[in-house]
Amino acid sequence: VSPKDRRSIAVIAEHLEGRLTQGTADAFALGMRLGDLVGGDVQVFLAGDQVETLGSELCASLGVNVVAVRIPGLSPCHGEALMAPIVEVLGGWNPGFVCLPHSSLGWEVAPGLAMQLGAACITAVEGVSMERGGPVFRRSMHGGKIVAGVRAGTGTVVLTAQPGAFKRPEGSPRGPGRLEIRERPYPQCRSRSLGQKPGIARDSAVSQAEIVVAAGRGVGKEENLALVHRLALAFANAAVGASRPLCDLGWISYRHQVGLTGATVAPRLYIACGISGAYQHIVGMRESGFIVAVNTDPHAAIFNVADICIQEDLTVFIPAFLMRLSDP
Ligand SMILES: Cc1cc2nc3c(=O)[nH]c(=O)nc-3n(C[C@H](O)[C@H](O)[C@H](O)COP(=O)(O)OP(=O)(O)OC[C@H]3O[C@@H](n4cnc5c(N)ncnc54)[C@H](O)[C@@H]3O)c2cc1C
Repeated sequence: VSPKDRRSIAVIAEHLEGRLTQGTADAFALGMRLGDLVGGDVQVFLAGDQVETLGSELCASLGVNVVAVRIPGLSPCHGEALMAPIVEVLGGWNPGFVCLPHSSLGWEVAPGLAMQLGAACITAVEGVSMERGGPVFRRSMHGGKIVAGVRAGTGTVVLTAQPGAFKRPEGSPRGPGRLEIRERPYPQCRSRSLGQKPGIARDSAVSQAEIVVAAGRGVGKEENLALVHRLALAFANAAVGASRPLCDLGWISYRHQVGLTGATVAPRLYIACGISGAYQHIVGMRESGFIVAVNTDPHAAIFNVADICIQEDLTVFIPAFLMRLSDP
């Protein structure tokens, strides 16, 4: 990309209860990665009822220019209300890339924004590389079994950054960016935000255990969960974790859920029993010290992150392993 073709990279900041979210950091890290690859300055868009403090925080911590739109009464979760101010500000920037968090707000805003900008929309981006002079974005498909490379066919691309996929470059910012504050009335919307409620409390046991034995849909039936509990009991300081479908089925409480919308764990040992390895699960356990996966499918994505891959029916493996432990 020649310098004259360089366009800015816009990052849409997200905040909740007066604090910037981790999703903002993820979107910013993707923006910085694109800046390294194709050039172009990163600029941040922020909107809210109160924007001065958050705007200053962004300028200081990221070292980039920020446009903050104050909209009295704006709920940070009302995606539709964000659309008009984003389009207005981005019109002045003419960005090549617009980066949002891959959060419920990002999912709501990204497709409509792409429509309005005449841009391509690529969601849940996990990686980006330059191939034949242009960026190719990687995203998981089919529960993580396939990683697709996607190239946009438009001048502008709207992207959502998969949580934890991009790391912000090390080192402190060059200096504080410039903060511009604009004021806009609440836009006319067809939806109304009714506010937000705290989500389900997470069990600290699963986050603090040294060993996590986690069950997935591969357990087949609720009774087989007892096997996973028995395996956990065989170790000291172990807790039972679960993939989300088991919690959705009501077989185990959401307190045990590991993953994107559950707990993030990093035990010394993680034993995944009947878990396919969807990205949303992996993101919550990939920092574990040693990973053992038991799965009947030799192509299961969990095997890509496992240190030991056991291709076996868990109802055969767990009793055999426990037998061996008690009678070595
Ligand atoms: C917004 C969003 C957030 C999400 N958040 C989370 C999250 O936080 N955590 C999470 O886990 N998921 C989350 N998910 C769901 C996620 O995408 C997957 O659907 C889920 O992780 C799959 O769970 P699973 O691996 O147990 O089930 P499946 O994908 O159905 O996999 C079951 C596996 O068991 C294997 N198997 C079958 N029988 C046996 C047997 N007898 N012995 C051994 N192996 C066997 C199969 O080969 C298969 O690989 C989220 C999804 C979305 C859209």
